[in-house]
Amino acid sequence: MLKVNKNYANLKESYLFAGIAKRVNEYSASNPDADIIRMGIGDVTLPLCDAVIDGLHSAVDEMSKAESFKGYGPEQGYGFLQDSIKAYYKKNGVELDTTEIFVSDGAKSDVGNILDIFDKENLVLVPDPVYPVYVDTNTMDGREIKYMNANEDNKFVPDPDESIDADIIYICSPNNPTGAAYDYEGLKKWVDYANARGAVILYDAAYEAFITEENVPRSIFEIEGARTCAIEFCSLSKTAGFTGTRCGYTVIPHELEREGMSLNKMWLRRQTTKFNGTSYIVQKGASCVFSEEGQKQIQENIEYYRENAKIIMETLDRLGIFYTGGKNSPYIWLKCPNDMKSWDFFDLLLEKANVVGTPGEGFGENGEGFFRLTSFSNHENTKEAMARLEKLISEM
Ligand code: PLP
Repeated sequence: MLKVNKNYANLKESYLFAGIAKRVNEYSASNPDADIIRMGIGDVTLPLCDAVIDGLHSAVDEMSKAESFKGYGPEQGYGFLQDSIKAYYKKNGVELDTTEIFVSDGAKSDVGNILDIFDKENLVLVPDPVYPVYVDTNTMDGREIKYMNANEDNKFVPDPDESIDADIIYICSPNNPTGAAYDYEGLKKWVDYANARGAVILYDAAYEAFITEENVPRSIFEIEGARTCAIEFCSLSKTAGFTGTRCGYTVIPHELEREGMSLNKMWLRRQTTKFNGTSYIVQKGASCVFSEEGQKQIQENIEYYRENAKIIMETLDRLGIFYTGGKNSPYIWLKCPNDMKSWDFFDLLLEKANVVGTPGEGFGENGEGFFRLTSFSNHENTKEAMARLEKLISEM
C-alpha cells in the first residue's frame, strides 16, 4: 500500500498571514471608509531598475533568433553570472572560486532543497523567532529541531549554547523577522562552535544589501574558519526587487567536507539531477544587477526603503520603545507597549490607527510581545502610519 510522508501531519498550520488578512478584511468590511495602511508587507514595492530591464529585453531578443537562441544552460548557472557574483564578493574581501557559486531561482528553494544532502538523523538548531521555512522544511523530513533563545536581553542575536550539540545550524543575518544582525565578533563565535563540532551553518544572507554598519559582515565567508563549516544562501529578491522575477545563489566552499564527502560536489550532483537551471533571460537580468549602473540603481531603491526605516526608528526612539533592526534591515522589530501581547497590539493598531503590522508571535514563541513593521511601503504612507502610531501610543 502506498505510504505518504507522515511528517507532513506534524507541520503547524501557517495561520500568520491568513490570520492577518482575515482580521483586516473583517475590519474593513465593517468600516468601509477606513484608510488602512499596510506596514506588514514583506514584499518589495519598487520596480526592477532600468539596467535590469534593459538586460531582460536584450535577452528576450536573443531568444528570438536562431544564432543567439539558448536552450538548456548549465544547471549551476551561466559563467557570466557566476563571474559577476564572484566579483561582488571580492569587493567585500571574499575570494571565491566560480565552481563554489550555484545560481538558482531563489533562496527559498535552495534553503529547502539543501536538506537533500543531509541525513535525517541530524539535530537542527534554529533561532526563535525565525523565518518559518527553516522549521517547516526540517519538519517535512522528520528531523529533530532545537531552538536558540533570541530575546530582548541578547538583542535578538543569541550566542551559541555549548550544551546543545547541534549538527545543522541556521543563521539569518540580518534577520527576518527581527532585523537584528551579527557583528564580526558574534558571528565568529558561531563559526568556532560549528568547527569544534563538525556542524554545518546554513547562513541566510538574503538581506545583506541592507547592511549599513561597518562592524556587520555581509557574508559569513568574511569570518576566518567559515570555509570549513558554512554554506551561504543569497537572493536578489530584496536586493534588487526580484521577488517575482526569481534569482538567488548558494555558495559552498570546496573545503567543506563531512564524512569524507565534499558538500560542494554533493550539491552539484543534487542540482544536476533535480534542477535544470534558472532561465537564461532571468540570469541575464540578474547579471545587470552587478554592473556599475545596476549597482547604482539598486542602491537608490534600497536607500528609499532605508529612509522609511529611519522614519519608523525615529518614531520609536521618541516613544522610548525597544526595537531591533532598521539599521541593517528593512525590518523593524518592536516591543509591544505596556507588555501587550502581539495579537492584542495588532488589533489595537488596526482598530485605533488603521495600521497593519505583523504579530511577532507568528514567528515563534519568543516573538510573543513583539511586532514587525517593514520599510517596503512608500514615504507618504510610512510617515502617516508612524504619526498615527505615535499619537496612539503616547495617549496610552
Ligand atoms: N530568506 C529569508 C530570510 C527571507 O526573508 C526570504 C524572503 O522573504 C527568503 C529567504 C526567500 O528569498 P527568495 O525570494 O530568493 O526565495
